[in-house]
Order: sequence, then structure tokens, then C-alpha cells
Amino acid sequence: MSDDCIFCSIVAGDVPSRTVHEGEHTFAFLDVNPLVRGHTLVIPKEHYETVAEMPDDVRDAVFTAAGELTPAVEEAVDADATTIGMNNGAASGQEVPHAHVHVVPRFDDDGVGPLHTLDWPRPDLDDEEFDDVAEAIRDGPQ
Ligand code: AMP
Ligand code: ZN
Repeated sequence: MSDDCIFCSIVAGDVPSRTVHEGEHTFAFLDVNPLVRGHTLVIPKEHYETVAEMPDDVRDAVFTAAGELTPAVEEAVDADATTIGMNNGAASGQEVPHAHVHVVPRFDDDGVGPLHTLDWPRPDLDDEEFDDVAEAIRDGPQ
């Protein structure tokens, strides 16, 4: 537990939340400032900042919980789909430094668009640049 972490405080019961799931490693609750009705956050109970910091069993549990909760979230608000994602690290816009998966209900006519409509710079990569990036990912962190 991290003393000054709002999500650790929620897991500990020191800060109230609208809890929708609790497992051995996982916890989920409604986002207090939802993008849309039903916006849910799935987190590890232990404090890890990013997806890579979570041990495998914790990460598996978090994504399993997100997958299992999704039909319930969709049904609860009569959604047609969900956008599921993480802001993973400060540069991506992560504001709460305790890893969390956003499960955001989506509707046929919501007009929000896919993740691709974030204001991405869209690089124009040639074949060599594609190959270099793929190789670097395959090689893993050095
Ligand atoms: P992110 O920008 O990915 O770090 O998202 C953090 C999310 O946590 C935001 O959507 C906030 O609305 C949400 N949030 C912050 N504090 C609380 C809280 N006490 N209870 C529920 N959700 C919260
Ligand atoms: Zn925390």
C-alpha cells in the first residue's frame, strides 16, 4: 500500500467507492468522474504503477476481472460495446499512479469514435522502420 495513493485508500476502505467487484488480487469500482454512465475502473489491490510493474499473476487477475466484468457493465447500462484501455504512465495521461483498466460503455450512436481518433501524430514509417520497431519489441528490454 502506498500511503498517499487514492486507489490504495479505496482498497483499504478509507475512501468510499461504489465497489462492483472484489477478488483476491483485484478490485473494481465506478469512476467518480465518469466519461459515460457505467465507466468502471479495475485495479490490482496491491500498489503497482504500470502494467509492466504488476507480477504476472496480478496482471492476469486484473485483465481477467476486466474481461469478466465487461458483460455486466454493458448490460447494466444497456451498452452496445465497451472501450477498454489504460493510460499507462504519466506521459500517456495517467493521473492516478496506481495501475487501472478503464472499462467505458459505448453506444452505437455515441459519436465518440475509436481510440484511433485520439490526436495521434501518425508517423509515415518505411519498411525498415517497421522492421526495426518489431525487432526491438521482440528483443525485449535490454
Ligand atoms: P487516469 O487518467 O487514467 O489516471 O484516470 C484516473 C481516473 O480515476 C479518472 O477517470 C478519475 O475520474 C478517477 N478517479 C480519481 N479519483 C477517484 C475516486 N476517488 N473514485 C473513483 N474514481 C476516481
Ligand atoms: Zn495505490
